[in-house]
Amino acid sequence: MNQIYLNGKIVSREQAVVSVYDHGFLYGNGIFEGIRIYNGKVFLLGEHLTRLYESARHLDLVIPMALPALAKAVEETVTANNKKEGYIRLVISRGVGNLGLDPRKTTTPQVIIIVDDISIYPEETYEKGMEIITASTTKNLPNAINPRIKSLNYLNNILAKLEANRAGVPEAIMLNHLGEVAECTADNIFLVKNGTLATPAVHCGILEGITRNTVMALARKENLSVRECVLTRHDVYIADECFLTGTAAEVVPVVRCDGRPIGTGVPGKITRLLGERYRAFARL
Ligand code: PMP
Repeated sequence: MNQIYLNGKIVSREQAVVSVYDHGFLYGNGIFEGIRIYNGKVFLLGEHLTRLYESARHLDLVIPMALPALAKAVEETVTANNKKEGYIRLVISRGVGNLGLDPRKTTTPQVIIIVDDISIYPEETYEKGMEIITASTTKNLPNAINPRIKSLNYLNNILAKLEANRAGVPEAIMLNHLGEVAECTADNIFLVKNGTLATPAVHCGILEGITRNTVMALARKENLSVRECVLTRHDVYIADECFLTGTAAEVVPVVRCDGRPIGTGVPGKITRLLGERYRAFARL
């Protein structure tokens, strides 16, 4: 049975409840991180906590504990759950307030750490690759809700996910307001063309994925060149290879987009290499 960290205490799943007046629930006012546990070790905890505290600063939300204390709480929750392989959902909600949206009316933000099993794509997806579509839902404008904030308000991505569901595919590319490729609903995207990797730059309106950054570093170690740039659907359609990256998905090959085969329609060599390198690095 899961043990959940709730504001300084480890409690059972049944006891882990928050108020209906919490602004995380009422307004999506809060932030989160999704983190992996490999071989009993929390993977890239420092990077995830840095991003969490940056999201908090953008939202002028004060996490009621310092980063080292939160890191310790995460480790203790993992230990309490005795998990060797799993997923951590770290949530900071704005806290309990009244029915007005003014954050000044809320009390202390809630700190919640859930440790659970990881749900990933079936092995077949990694062997054969997945098909995706381009969603018609435009990515949030960076000047409206900046996609760099990993917030509890995921409706923009959920609208695109509904389109993917309707099309019978697991993921969808979201384009920004300029029609440039941004990212998928829960993963970043990479293209390979003539042996060179390319991924949308942060200014294109993406979450700066920790897996994305790790994969870029691993690629450079293999002497592959990686560009962070503006990409369009044309680049996707003419790419030799395409793959997605994310904490849960790791490196997943994409072999079809909008009905067109990508490259030869099977997972590419560079995708396979980086998938292997990533899995090995995560399990070091
Ligand atoms: N983009 C979005 C919208 C996400 O929600 C995520 C996380 N699931 C990612 C990209 C990948 O980020 P990370 O590699 O840090 O998990």
